[in-house]
Amino acid sequence: MEKLQKIRGALIDMDGVLYDSMPGHTLAWKRMMDSLGVECDRDEFYLYEGMTGAATIDLLFKRAFGHECEPDKIKELYAIKSQNFKSLGPAKPMPGADRMLSLLAEAGFVRVLVTGSGQASLLDALQRDYPGVFGKGGMVTAHDVTHGKPDPEPYLKGAALAGLEPSECMVVENAPLGVRAGKAAGCFTVAVTTGPIAREAFEREGADMIFESMEAFADFLQEELK
Ligand code: CA
Repeated sequence: MEKLQKIRGALIDMDGVLYDSMPGHTLAWKRMMDSLGVECDRDEFYLYEGMTGAATIDLLFKRAFGHECEPDKIKELYAIKSQNFKSLGPAKPMPGADRMLSLLAEAGFVRVLVTGSGQASLLDALQRDYPGVFGKGGMVTAHDVTHGKPDPEPYLKGAALAGLEPSECMVVENAPLGVRAGKAAGCFTVAVTTGPIAREAFEREGADMIFESMEAFADFLQEELK
C-alpha cells in the first residue's frame, strides 16, 4: 500500500478509461473535419483528448484557415461530431474497468467521474454499464467546468466533490492532456495507455505510474490494496 498510502479517493476519467470509446471519437472527428475539407490525421485526435470540443475545433480551424471558428458554427460542428459518434453505436466498456471500480470500492475509496464529455448518450450508458457507481453528486462533466483539461479545474472540482484534498486523490487517465491536468491539480496521477499514444508522452507529462492496460492496472490494485 506504500504508493497509495495517502490516497482516499479516485477521480476517474471516462473515455478510454471506462469505455473503449476513443476509436469511435477519433473517427467521428475525422469524418466531420473531412466534410469541411480540413486536412487532419485520425490519430491526432488522441492528442487533443480531454480538451473541450470548442478548443479542438478552434485548433484545427486556425491551422487550416488561419482563424478561430464562429461560436454558432462551433455548436453546429460539435453536434455533427456527436451525431457521427452516436451513429457508430454504443461504446463497449473497457475490459478490466469493472474490476478496477470494485477494487477501489472495497478499499473504501470515494469514486468520482471526471469527464470532458457532456454527451447525454454516454452519460446514460454509464448508468446502464456501471449502475450505482457514480451518483448525481459523483460526477464532473463538461457542463460543470469553464476550462477543460489540460487545465486543472476538472480535477480540482472532482477532489472537492469527493470532499478530499487533491493530494489525497488518485487520477486515472488515458490521455496525455488529462495526465497534465491531474498533475497540475496536485493529484497522484495514473496513466493507462489504452490507445496508440506512446508511453513516453505520458512520462513527459509526469505520470506517477503508467500501465499498458486497464487489466494491468486492476491487477496492480488487487495486489496493492490487499
Ligand atoms: Ca479519456
